[in-house]
Amino acid sequence: MKPFALALEVTSAVLGACREFLGEEGFVELLPVILAPVTDPLRTTPDRAIISAYGQNWYLTRSMIFHKQAAVRVCPKIFSFSPNVRLEPQERGSTGRHLFEFVQLDLEVREATRDVLMDLGERLLIHVLEEVRRDFGRELAARGRELLTYPRPFPRISWHEAKKEFGENFEEALSERSSIPVWIVDFPIDQREFYDREDPDRPGILVDMDLLYPQGYGEALSGGEREYQPGRIRARIMRQGLDPEDYAGFLRLAEEGLPPSAGFGIGIERLVRFILGLAHVGEVRLFPRIPGAAVSL
Ligand code: ASP
Ligand code: MG
Repeated sequence: MKPFALALEVTSAVLGACREFLGEEGFVELLPVILAPVTDPLRTTPDRAIISAYGQNWYLTRSMIFHKQAAVRVCPKIFSFSPNVRLEPQERGSTGRHLFEFVQLDLEVREATRDVLMDLGERLLIHVLEEVRRDFGRELAARGRELLTYPRPFPRISWHEAKKEFGENFEEALSERSSIPVWIVDFPIDQREFYDREDPDRPGILVDMDLLYPQGYGEALSGGEREYQPGRIRARIMRQGLDPEDYAGFLRLAEEGLPPSAGFGIGIERLVRFILGLAHVGEVRLFPRIPGAAVSL
């Protein structure tokens, strides 16, 4: 099989394996939202893609975070393969990990804790790797790539410990030195967006997590428990120097009543890149959107 065809077939198998796994876990698939009056603030990627229509501005979705929180009012477990547009700075074109249009499997569970989502994330990843190994193991082996079965639970390290042990670039260092996936938990409040829930027992620490792939492939997923009480959401928005007016629709929803929830988002292209051992996520897409790279179609 041509290398490119393999990337497309494996992507297709990954989507199927995710759907199968989540279906068995009782999740409902939500059609993705692509345009919205409010989207993820993502302070590390400040440029926004906006279109103007019908007398107002519409953001291209940066993540479905607020829609996920709204959707679990209706169904307790939801997921979506969500196309995200994030206008990453041009220099991120060469990290191997950034596209400015990508798809993430974005999921959310009503009344769930972080531990439940971490357990789910581990089982989901292992299921996907098993399915791909079954159907593509030989072709991967011919390319020198072996998919391993990782023991569970994956190790956890707190953000502070990781930084102390591995220095400023701890995420990279940890991913490079690890031969199994590893969780970073308990991010400090100012490192993340306002929707990750602050631990009521440990002010300044969030009940959230990232999963890192081994062998230097970097971040696999981000997620956490959510702020859902309107007063707390407003305080967190203000703390980050954001304007509550920009999140008015979401705040209104919170005032009507949002359930507690937890969830995560896992990038599909990064997952396939890890599976195939590719140098760049762009090699996963037939029509990649790499910051700064020329595009003809
Ligand atoms: N919104 C997060 C992101 O896109 C994922 C999550 O917290 O569910 O990075
Ligand atoms: Mg992240």
